[in-house]
Amino acid sequence: MNIHEYQGKEVLKQYGVSVPNGRVAYTVEEAVEAAKELGTDVVVVKAQIHAGGRGKAGGVKVAKNLDEARTYAEEILGKTLITHQTGPEGKEVKRLLIEEGCDIKKEYYVGLVLDRDTSRVVLMASEEGGTEIEEVAEKTPEKIFKEVIDPVVGLSAFQARRIAFNINIPKELINKSVKFMLGLYTAFVEKDCSIAEINPLVITGDGNVMALDAKLNFDDNALFRHKDILEYRDLDEEDPKEIEASKYDLSYISLTGNIGCMVNGAGLAMSTMDIIKHYSGDPANFLDVGGGATAEKVTEAFKIILSDKNVKGIFVNIFGGIMKCDVIAEGVVEAAKQLGLDVPVVVRLEGTNVELGKQILKDSGLNLTPAESMADGAQKIVSLVG
Ligand code: ADP
Ligand code: MG
Repeated sequence: MNIHEYQGKEVLKQYGVSVPNGRVAYTVEEAVEAAKELGTDVVVVKAQIHAGGRGKAGGVKVAKNLDEARTYAEEILGKTLITHQTGPEGKEVKRLLIEEGCDIKKEYYVGLVLDRDTSRVVLMASEEGGTEIEEVAEKTPEKIFKEVIDPVVGLSAFQARRIAFNINIPKELINKSVKFMLGLYTAFVEKDCSIAEINPLVITGDGNVMALDAKLNFDDNALFRHKDILEYRDLDEEDPKEIEASKYDLSYISLTGNIGCMVNGAGLAMSTMDIIKHYSGDPANFLDVGGGATAEKVTEAFKIILSDKNVKGIFVNIFGGIMKCDVIAEGVVEAAKQLGLDVPVVVRLEGTNVELGKQILKDSGLNLTPAESMADGAQKIVSLVG
């Protein structure tokens, strides 16, 4: 799960990581009020969306007085920001962070990620802060320093110090930087983060070390033990189809293609997407209805697929083990009755109660194309979608 910058900063503060004072605002009036309360000469108006690159896209503005703060709040709230992380459709700004202006002396990059090669958390840092780290990694990889962290010992002060020296933090601020990194690491571990990225970390004119941006991602499987983090969930930032699917406990992920897939079992769902690709089609989603799905759950799953405007055809690929083919058939028929069916549907059923399932589909009078195998089904749906 992803959270907003201002929420990430609230979390970091609990771990002694310095952040500028700031307030969230949902309206222009709240934004002006927040700027007044902060009481500093300069405030920064920052769009809060679950994507980086806001600065370049006009989502971060420095205001020198209250009038400017109002003007920028008006400009940014409600605007659809398009950054390199939002995709071409962009994201509408519904919240702002009004933050104290910071006297930046230099910007750095510091991040913690889980490295799958070493199965360890890795601390990464660079002197090239503010810019995209992917760009630094590509053009000047020698400017990124890494420390692999032993999970038993945790991040050692000497590792943090070595990183601080490597990225040329001024001597007098090394200790503050070490404290910063240790706090960041503790937050990462205690809150079950999968990413904690501070870009930029800044050193300030008055000798502070601060997180000016904060991107925290959390491991969904650990959220049950972090009620405080779950409260940060912002449904506006999520795909409505995925939210609907999670209500019914379906594993559903939206993709960009036009062939809707209804499959049981994650492995079969993956190979179904592969085979569609193999025959030059493009899946619109990953969907695993699970083993013990009821007809109701299948109905909801099918409705979610049908509600996707990009879907030009559907491939139902079921291998009935625990799942019974007749249950799937009932769900498909029910959903088609409720929503109507104006796209081609190819159905491949195999396994428990397959004959019964096929009979239900046949009796429904729906225009369904049967398939004999996975490959047959994939070819049929790709050619029907055209
Ligand atoms: P993004 O990464 O989405 O572009 P950031 O929060 O990193 O957004 O902000 C972009 C840039 O704006 C920063 O690199 C920094 O130079 C400037 N900035 C952000 N917050 C402040 C602040 N509170 N005071 C002064 N400058 C800021
Ligand atoms: Mg940033």
